[in-house]
Amino acid sequence: MHNMNLSPLISEEEIQKKVHNMGQTLTAKYKDQQIVAICVLKGSFMFYSDLIRAIDTDVICEYMAVSSYGNSSQSSGEVKINLDLTGTIRDRHVLLIEDIVDTGLTLNFLKNHLAMRGPRSVATAALLLKPGALKVDCAVDHVGFEISNDFVVGYGLDYQGYFRNLPYIAQVQSLS
Ligand code: 5GP
Repeated sequence: MHNMNLSPLISEEEIQKKVHNMGQTLTAKYKDQQIVAICVLKGSFMFYSDLIRAIDTDVICEYMAVSSYGNSSQSSGEVKINLDLTGTIRDRHVLLIEDIVDTGLTLNFLKNHLAMRGPRSVATAALLLKPGALKVDCAVDHVGFEISNDFVVGYGLDYQGYFRNLPYIAQVQSLS
């Protein structure tokens, strides 16, 4: 998108180092245990694929896609499931992997929703957290980076479908 100005915020090297560290922490946490790692599409796909490769235990991959009802600036917290799990999570350790936690409404919904399916445990990992934007009390177990309330793109995150393929995180400003 040529009318957008990107200002790099978190480099590829910083991301890879952080993901590696998170993987080591999760490897220790789930030592000798099987986990179901859930990728929340679309934004998490890049973080997810790097993180699961950094976790040295048995990982079953599952995918969900969700969208908010209403417009995003006035989220009601009601979330629609557009793509659901294909397998059971009953009695399994679940790791829910998100790209970014903003208001916390999506992650909160997913945590509550998954808890009703009888998992052994549910833990959450998010690459980015905007503490100043949280609207609900939403504890994230494993956070990569805390950032300010600015809109970011890259490493899976988009602006109008663009920029997901950037290997780094950037802030985006419109030039028009
Ligand atoms: P929440 O329910 O926490 O408000 O929203 C989480 C979702 O909003 C994320 O999964 C992501 O899709 C979107 N989102 C929130 N902040 C940003 C941002 O700065 N950049 C992008 N690209 N998406 C964001």
